[in-house]
Amino acid sequence: MTETDKILDGRIALVTGASRGIGAAVAKKLASLGAHVVAVGRTTGALEELDDEIKALGGTATLTPLDLTDFDGIDNLGAALFERYKKLDIVVAAAGMLGTIGPMHQLDPSVWDQTMAVNTTVNFRLIRSMDPLLRQSDAGRSVYVTSTAGQVARAYWSVYAVSKAALEMMVKTYADEIKETPMRVNLFNPGGTRTGMRKQAFPGEDPLTLRTPEFVADQIAPLCLPDCQINGESVAIEGSDAEIAS
Ligand code: NDP
Repeated sequence: MTETDKILDGRIALVTGASRGIGAAVAKKLASLGAHVVAVGRTTGALEELDDEIKALGGTATLTPLDLTDFDGIDNLGAALFERYKKLDIVVAAAGMLGTIGPMHQLDPSVWDQTMAVNTTVNFRLIRSMDPLLRQSDAGRSVYVTSTAGQVARAYWSVYAVSKAALEMMVKTYADEIKETPMRVNLFNPGGTRTGMRKQAFPGEDPLTLRTPEFVADQIAPLCLPDCQINGESVAIEGSDAEIAS
């Protein structure tokens, strides 16, 4: 699969977390394959930089500055996409936050609420608002970015781990519900990746020892293609389970 294939020509792809890190790399990858990317994030300047990079690759994007915890905003986005495109072909949900690493009993309740909202409830609201649009596609594909932290209990990972475990059950349940449709939905666990979130979790780590967001995006892209037939899987980059990944 090379960029010259433009294998996603004519497809509309919604990418959350598109302002930086893994989401930005996925947005560029999908645009380079021909998809029109609807790029969601709060940081307008970073979205504008992404737009420049996508244009330089010969791709197109619609910038959507939005705090995803504004749930009405997600509903409005679904309505706007229906108005404009009548369908959605791809959702890659990469927006996420780490919360606070530390003992569970000391966690600030507002951090609990915010982290559960961004990592879990936002993705429920995306499923709810985008499902009708994905059903209008001949091959609606969704990828929700998860973490080893949601699979293996480790001291101090606290609300991040809980939010990702809930995300995994939510996505697998949804996958079972849509299995008889042309849609497919999967989880993707990137393992430790060179981003701001990883730096927040492991400040002393040498980023150069980590895989790049671009490498991760190359692994996510096949799950977005019409010919992807797996459903309800948690796909990991080989070796990532063995790592202490954020
Ligand atoms: P970054 O911190 O680099 O990026 C997080 C993204 O989420 C940003 O684009 C940010 O945009 C967006 N975001 C956060 N909160 C909101 C909000 N309220 N509304 C809208 N957008 C929001 O993280 P990564 O790229 O590292 O993480 C991407 C995904 O990968 C996450 O789900 C993370 O849990 C997962 N992951 C990452 C690993 C790693 O090692 N990096 C390992 C395992 C999983 P903005 O601030 O502009 O709103």
